Amino acid sequence: MSETIRQLISEEDVDKKIREIGEQISRDYEGRQVHLICVLKGGVFFTCELAKRINVPVSLDFMSVSSYGDDTSSSGVVRIVKDLDESIEGKDVLIVEDIIDSGRTLSYLIEVLKQRNPNSLRLCTLLDKPERRVKDVNVDYVCFNIPDEFVVGYGLDYAQKYRNLPYIGVVEL
Ligand code: 5GP
Ligand code: MG
Repeated sequence: MSETIRQLISEEDVDKKIREIGEQISRDYEGRQVHLICVLKGGVFFTCELAKRINVPVSLDFMSVSSYGDDTSSSGVVRIVKDLDESIEGKDVLIVEDIIDSGRTLSYLIEVLKQRNPNSLRLCTLLDKPERRVKDVNVDYVCFNIPDEFVVGYGLDYAQKYRNLPYIGVVEL
């Protein structure tokens, strides 16, 4: 079975936007250290590029959660597959996510992390599909709002493929 990928957002546009969001985060966190929590695996490419564009001190940790029964539809069941290595107590935490769809994963994650007493907790996402929202989530930084289409690239996969594409594309079966 083979699929084709139609480009939705070019590499140049993604890079430019990440630069802008990085500058905004740098201004907002001036004088503080920002603790980035990368949501694996999809958030990895975005987290690395974003971290390079932030010019206040940055620390990093990784978490893996699973909310999907299969590749394209949400089951509503969220579980922590890999927890953080370090405590977030007293830290200025910024969750870095690839995409927010129904919002189920993030609303669960935010509740879990709030209970660990960070000094602040914010959310940054590369992509947002607002029309798909089932659970309300307050998103502080969004690079791109996109229509309700299944996208890949920049960390996002289709059956574990295409994460390495340097642009965002739509899967056409
Ligand atoms: P939510 O809990 O917000 O419905 O789901 C978020 C997760 O679903 C994302 O982190 C991502 O793993 C997956 N997801 C949602 N939409 C897409 C999409 O268009 N493409 C890919 N590859 N994954 C998606
Ligand atoms: Mg994700």
